[in-house]
Amino acid sequence: MSPLDLLDLDSSLSEEERQIRAVVRQVVDDRVRPHVAGWYEAGQVPARELAREFGKLGLLGMHLTGYGCAGSSAVAYGLACLELEAGDSGVRSLVSVQGSLAMYAIWRYGSEAQKQHWLPAMAAGEAIGCFGLTEPDHGSDPASMTTRARRDGDDWVLTGSKMWITNAPIAEVGVIWARTDEGVRGFVVPMDAPGVTAREIGRKMSLRASVTGEIALDDVRLPADAQLPGAIGLKAPLSCLTEARHGIVWGALGAARDCLETTLAYATTRTQFGRPLAAFQLTQAKLADLAVEWNKGYLLALQLGRLADAGRLRPEQVSVGKLNNVREALAIARQCRTILGANGVSGDYPVMRHANNLESVLTYEGTSEIHQLVIGQKLTGISAFS
Ligand code: FAD
Repeated sequence: MSPLDLLDLDSSLSEEERQIRAVVRQVVDDRVRPHVAGWYEAGQVPARELAREFGKLGLLGMHLTGYGCAGSSAVAYGLACLELEAGDSGVRSLVSVQGSLAMYAIWRYGSEAQKQHWLPAMAAGEAIGCFGLTEPDHGSDPASMTTRARRDGDDWVLTGSKMWITNAPIAEVGVIWARTDEGVRGFVVPMDAPGVTAREIGRKMSLRASVTGEIALDDVRLPADAQLPGAIGLKAPLSCLTEARHGIVWGALGAARDCLETTLAYATTRTQFGRPLAAFQLTQAKLADLAVEWNKGYLLALQLGRLADAGRLRPEQVSVGKLNNVREALAIARQCRTILGANGVSGDYPVMRHANNLESVLTYEGTSEIHQLVIGQKLTGISAFS
């Protein structure tokens, strides 16, 4: 048992959940850990290669059923996210966007033909997907989106732009949300369709081992059957975000665990004043507080995962998890950095990389403030959004 699991929470996992966790931990140890500092520094990640390997292991869309998807439990999916993010938040983002955003949107709202065409290839990692909701001028408030889809005969014509879209520059398919005369609708857009361009966003100081892009849609003509028939209104993309946020609740714990494990090892071997750092009471107080927060976050994730598996998980409950676990993971990473002293800012240790990554995780999939407002609305019955 890991010394971090103070409450023996692992004992509540099933044998299958533990096995899935062990497999993902191994692939992260083999394929991510040895290289990720270099990917991060270079701002380049072999996403396509990783997607194929993750596809072979059944990690892409793993909580979905049919169409080549593994059909695992929500808790197993969460544990996979935790292990992937212990490697790097960017690697977990690759899997989250593929499975919980792009694939989930098609799986839940797509036609049978769309599902047959895209999901098996996406589950195998042969086709990479992206999810375009955010726009340059509309982030927290997607209801104000200006990307437009208009009818021209039977066709749809899409115009507008999407910003900060994970995987966009390398994606084969984009699930793009646009305003129509009837309200918000989703479209399955081949990224090589005439009029679609995806430019990589450079100079990111966070999530550097992840590809992020801007999508320009310049009179993109699509056949009628490109529309997701089941996606009616903004609640459709929001339901996809709820799905992905559940993975983030778990994933953030992975980044925090890696920081804590690194720091525990460091504090027990580094000596100052003739004693290991871990022997100082102030260090132990920090470690104790961080481990308590980590265990609380794990408990929260387990509860949300069990609710999801029972089909009872509500969006505001996911907001509780996303708000708490990302905020606390970031606090853990920052505090761990202090224990590593100057080495804390070095890329030879993963702590600063995790802290920088978690800044993006704090912002995407609903900022902390937006999740506070969701919870505030649930508590008071009053919407403070507008
Ligand atoms: P804004 O909405 O402009 O908010 C700025 C600040 O104002 C925030 O602190 C926010 O909390 C606060 N604020 C806004 N409204 C309120 C309010 N009513 N009350 C109080 N405070 C408020 N999007 C996608 O669609 N697909 C992706 O794949 C994707 N990947 C991403 C990857 C990365 C690395 C990053 C950084 C972002 C990604 N995003 C993606 C975009 C992300 O979802 C948005 O950045 C996020 O929704 C916030 O929007 P914004 O950046 O426009 O900030």
